[in-house]
Formats: sequence, structure tokens, C-alpha cells
Amino acid sequence: MKITVLASGSKGNCTYVQGDSGALLVDAGLSAKETFRRLEESGCDKDLIEAIIVTHEHRDHIKGVDVLSRKLNIPVIGTQGTLWQFEDKRTSEKKLIYDPVKTGEVKTVGDFEVEAFSTYHDSMDPCGYRIKYGDLTFALCTDTGKTDERIGAYLASADVLVLESNHCPDMLKNGPYPAFLKARIADSKRGHLSNTAAAECIKKYCRDSEKIVLAHLSEENNRPEIALESAQTAAEEILCSAGIAVSHQHCPAETIRLQ
Ligand SMILES: [Zn+2]
Ligand SMILES: [Zn+2]
Repeated sequence: MKITVLASGSKGNCTYVQGDSGALLVDAGLSAKETFRRLEESGCDKDLIEAIIVTHEHRDHIKGVDVLSRKLNIPVIGTQGTLWQFEDKRTSEKKLIYDPVKTGEVKTVGDFEVEAFSTYHDSMDPCGYRIKYGDLTFALCTDTGKTDERIGAYLASADVLVLESNHCPDMLKNGPYPAFLKARIADSKRGHLSNTAAAECIKKYCRDSEKIVLAHLSEENNRPEIALESAQTAAEEILCSAGIAVSHQHCPAETIRLQ
């Protein structure tokens, strides 16, 4: 299994997950052109992609879905609420193939087993994903105000976890955003996971992870070194030996290979 976070942050999110003979995209928030460029730059094969799996309908997760789905002739998978919202926002008349997923159910896509779990975010029916490929498990959990035991159960089994570490609470509090936006981001029921909350999540659920990639870092209210230190301190406290990395907005992160 090979995983590359092609982009992560409020200007676009996209992760490539590849097995031996197929691949998935989780979110496609870059333009199709930029997605193809980054796939090539990272040595990922666009022709292996069998489906685009979307977490929710915010633009930073769906911007390239329409064009990519049509160009690659592949279905769009998401919760029914997300797919309805996405279809509603589309401007193209051309039909897409939709394949709704229900949270808590396993959907087989090629050699992958895909499961969605609900997250806490201000969209119609947002979710994260656990994707199994043989004995290997990948999970992605971003755009969520909090994690809890229900979500933790999905994350705990992941060899590789992409976990949101959106903001440093102090930087958000003292930063330039208007009060309503600060409140929205910090709201655990519908916002984004802070460095502190991500660290707590790691301590509770990620003891056995092999690799943790911090994601959706705010460019205004966070810095990679602060997010990284917070996560590494949490991992050290529970004697977790996972490699921890940060993903980027403007370039692909280093590819992770699992066997
Ligand atoms: Zn987002
Ligand atoms: Zn969002």
C-alpha cells in the first residue's frame, strides 16, 4: 500500500491511496490540472484510480471532483448527504456516477474495503474514512471539531493515519480572524481539530500506529513545527513509536509505503 497526501489545507485537500492494481483518491480539492500535475510529480499513476471518495462538500475537498470523475470515468463515493450537496453545487450538465456509502457499512471498491464514519463539521453529512487493503489499514480524519470513542475506534486500527491538526488554540485566539470565524473553527461540534485535540486523540487512540500524518494545518493559525512538536510530545508520552510527519498545502508530502 502506498499513500501520498498530494495537498492538505483550506486551499485544497487530496490524498492518493494505492494498492497493487488499483488506487483511490480521498477528496479532490485541487483543480483537475493541478491534481494530475501533483500525481505525476509524486510518481502516482492516475490510470489506476478507481473512485474518488469525498469527506464532505466544502470546496477545498470537491473543487476537482467533477472534472476528474469525468476525465477518468470513475464514480464519486460519499455519504448521500454529501453527494446531494455536491450535485446541487455543480454547474456541469454532464452526468456523474454516484455511489453513496452509509456510515458504519463496508463498501468494496476494487481491492479496498472502504468504511465511512461521521465527523463533527459544519456540512450536510461529513465523514472520515477507514480503508483496508489486505492486512493494512489506512484512516483519514480531517474537518472535525473533535474525536471521541466512536471515531477513535476507527483510528485505533490504522497503520497509517492522516489526522487533522488545524490550529494552535493560542494563535487562533490572538490571530487576525473575526470573532465569528474564530468561534466557528474552535467549535467542537462543527469546526476543526486543534493541535491540542489532535495530541489528545493520539494519546488515546494511536498507540499502535506506524505513521501519523498531520493534516489541514491552517496557514494563519498554525505552524508546522508547533503542530509537529505537540503531536510528538503526545506520542512520546504513550511510548508510541509512530513516525509523525506534516502534510503541505502547496506541494505533495513524502509518499508512505506499507507492506
Ligand atoms: Zn477542509
Ligand atoms: Zn470543511
